[in-house]
Amino acid sequence: MKPLLLVLLLLATGYAPAQNPASRPVDPTRITLAIHGGAGTITRQNMTPEQEQAYREVLNQALQTGYAILKKGGTSLDAVEATVRVMEDSPLFNAGKGAVFTHDGRNELDAAIMDGSTLKAGSVAGVTTIRNPISAARSVMEKSEHVMMVGAGAEQFAKDQGLVLVDPSYFYTEARYQQLQKALRTSQGSVGDQLNTPTKAATPPAKVLPSGKRSKSSGGRKPQGYAEPPVFIEGRKYGTVGAVALDQYGNLAAATSTGGMTNKRYGRVGDAPLIGAGTYADNQSCAVSCTGWGEFFIRATVARDVAARVEYQQQPLTAAAQATLDKVARLGGDGGLVAVDAAGNVAMPFNTEGMYRGYIKANGQSNVLIYK
Ligand code: ASP
Repeated sequence: MKPLLLVLLLLATGYAPAQNPASRPVDPTRITLAIHGGAGTITRQNMTPEQEQAYREVLNQALQTGYAILKKGGTSLDAVEATVRVMEDSPLFNAGKGAVFTHDGRNELDAAIMDGSTLKAGSVAGVTTIRNPISAARSVMEKSEHVMMVGAGAEQFAKDQGLVLVDPSYFYTEARYQQLQKALRTSQGSVGDQLNTPTKAATPPAKVLPSGKRSKSSGGRKPQGYAEPPVFIEGRKYGTVGAVALDQYGNLAAATSTGGMTNKRYGRVGDAPLIGAGTYADNQSCAVSCTGWGEFFIRATVARDVAARVEYQQQPLTAAAQATLDKVARLGGDGGLVAVDAAGNVAMPFNTEGMYRGYIKANGQSNVLIYK
């Protein structure tokens, strides 16, 4: 094809090659970072002042970490990764260290990252030994020719890349373990449980005991006939973490990391690591990171839906985010999201009682919010 013809074709299809940061106008006043640490039944009544203070401190630390990178000219990609790592290292959130337990007493982590300037993306799912899954997701994006890796393969890849691996017991926290026990007690004898016929064929991995040690398998369950138990998560509290950012060069990025949902069944993957569901970024529209009942966020392709409304319908970010979340609610799901667009507008809607969230702009002042 003649070069001129190719150029005309690309212009006609609306294709715009990704611009590298150096070629975009630099504007330090537009740097923006927004984060969430999960949505759910988070009310003043069920939180002590000490707990609230602890959450505020880590959220503030996460914001300041990302801000410092953006402020000195770092990319939105570096900022969202570093910001999420702070929350992954805290036991307070359902990501990394504080990940919730699966039905089988394990911690299986998911994460995704996306670069809005290139539409490159990386994610990992069902990993049990990677200390910071968000960095593994970034390695998948940058060091492999793939977008998503799961389980043992993702862990081997992380090891090859020199990322920090930990014993699965690193993810044990007493509070999360007790959440699982409560969920298991409440779901006993439920319709979902009756439909799950134990089978000798399936052998789930050993349970993690409070001591951090592992016990023998508790017996397997057939995937066929699986119906969700009424208590899928304890207290309807989602603790996934996420960050979205706009850098000085006008590039957007999004990152999300989670332990999934308490009492989730073997191999369950939520929305967080699925590009377009829990995580999405495109310089043409916005960057989005979600938290909530993953099954509904997957079905509504929430993150991409928000971006599509902004890109194709020119909806303002806040309206787009709210419209998509309303769709989730109509399906029966709940949760929230944080989003930032190319102009630095921030949206942080949720349809639960609260959402750990915050944002920071060029002046460096952290804004941390929890309740409605
Ligand atoms: N969205 C996550 C999932 O379904 C849960 C959360 O937001 O905490 O895996």
